[in-house]
Amino acid sequence: MDHLPIFMSLKGRRALVVGGGEPAARKVRHLRAASAETTVVAPQAIAELEELAARGDIALWRRSFAPRDLDGAVIAFAATGIAEVDARVAELARAAGIPVNAVDRPAHSTFIMPAIVDRDPITIGISSGGTAPLLVRRLRAELESRLPAALGRLARFAGSFRTAVKANVRDPAARARFWERFFDGPVASAVLDGDERRALVRMLALVNRPQSEGAAGEVAIVGAGPGDPDLLTLGALHALQAADVVVLDRLIGPKILDYARRDAERIFVGKSRDGHAMDQDAINDLLVRLAGAGKRVVRLKGGDPFIFGRGGEEQEALRRRGVAVRVVPGVTAATGCAASAGFPLTHRDHASSVTFLTGQLQDGAPEPDWASLARGSQTLVVYMGVATAGTLAARLIAHGLDPATPAAVVENGTLPDERVVAGTVGSLAAMVRAHGIAPPALIVIGEVARLAEATPAHAVAV
Ligand code: SAH
Repeated sequence: MDHLPIFMSLKGRRALVVGGGEPAARKVRHLRAASAETTVVAPQAIAELEELAARGDIALWRRSFAPRDLDGAVIAFAATGIAEVDARVAELARAAGIPVNAVDRPAHSTFIMPAIVDRDPITIGISSGGTAPLLVRRLRAELESRLPAALGRLARFAGSFRTAVKANVRDPAARARFWERFFDGPVASAVLDGDERRALVRMLALVNRPQSEGAAGEVAIVGAGPGDPDLLTLGALHALQAADVVVLDRLIGPKILDYARRDAERIFVGKSRDGHAMDQDAINDLLVRLAGAGKRVVRLKGGDPFIFGRGGEEQEALRRRGVAVRVVPGVTAATGCAASAGFPLTHRDHASSVTFLTGQLQDGAPEPDWASLARGSQTLVVYMGVATAGTLAARLIAHGLDPATPAAVVENGTLPDERVVAGTVGSLAAMVRAHGIAPPALIVIGEVARLAEATPAHAVAV
């Protein structure tokens, strides 16, 4: 190791930045985050620095560097971009025993600045010792996306209970186990979710009865999006990485499951390709049993759990039985398919509203309001409508929709084998039949469907 990573306390101490451009401003931002008393010396400074000076947040001396500027500084940055000036600042600082960093000039520097991931008070510094800056940037981006935004809040929350936990759990080994379970458990999830009030209540109970921790699992009902793993949310990713068990439908692709922990148990419950499915009560029982055994369960659902996903029913059943449950929304098929097939769902010229409806027209179930659905200037998105496409089109036309209204069908939207076929409501049934459209497929009706980019090989108007 060429450099020793250390975290330096600069609160209220004097830091000197020589230079007034963007590189200097970057250092100033870090120094301010660390509450240093910052002085910038430069004949000219960019607007950001001028504003900070005007607000009194930094001192800005509008002149060239002079050796006495280093007096009283505990750290210095040479960021003028002029080789001789930076070298001189560095040389004088070194002679005075002040740690100095000359931007992009490691030979002149006594320390280097790491790339920083800031989840204050959790801070991560990354360095390649100057060998691979691009790799460092990628690592930082990776960590930025993987670490929950509220990580700092979690650290502070835990910190505020340290003394209490220490008093109530005296044995150090037991205390370590307490914190292990805490960071894996539902209280920590609640803090990360931004629900600190719930977390606080549960934490107080835990601290007063520390042995009970570990008993309570939780269920996260997570939307996986329409198929493309790029459409997972960061919340879904974090939930998947924390889960002990993932309960899912077989239709959720293996690419998505790659994001779950390798050692997580996977239980398939939804419809398989041959049509077998566990019924909803059995799924609810399973979720309750798993959470009751202290597991962190992810109930993974296609698209968004609250749009034709029965997420609402599962949430209700779990709540009724006292299981901690939360919902992570997902990109629903409608928005995913629209983006992927290149048409908007609303449009200032063509559609002022969009309706999501199910094509499952069950016997006895209330009929949708066909007359209002048949009116113009709107977009209809039909989920689960492949089998009933003909009936659907006929009802709409019977209630006054022009058969020439554009319609598009998106099959396996956002996935590598996506197909888009476009035509009209009048030809919808024939279109579905002629192209052998199979679920999962989404039907879109309205002027916006004219903008769909039909898959070239199938772009045949029927
Ligand atoms: N909760 C899901 C919908 C579940 S209902 C969501 O928010 O997307 C299942 C229906 O969703 C399918 O019959 C199909 O109409 C639609 N669907 C889901 N994924 C799809 C995809 N990748 N391409 C096209 N339609 C899809």
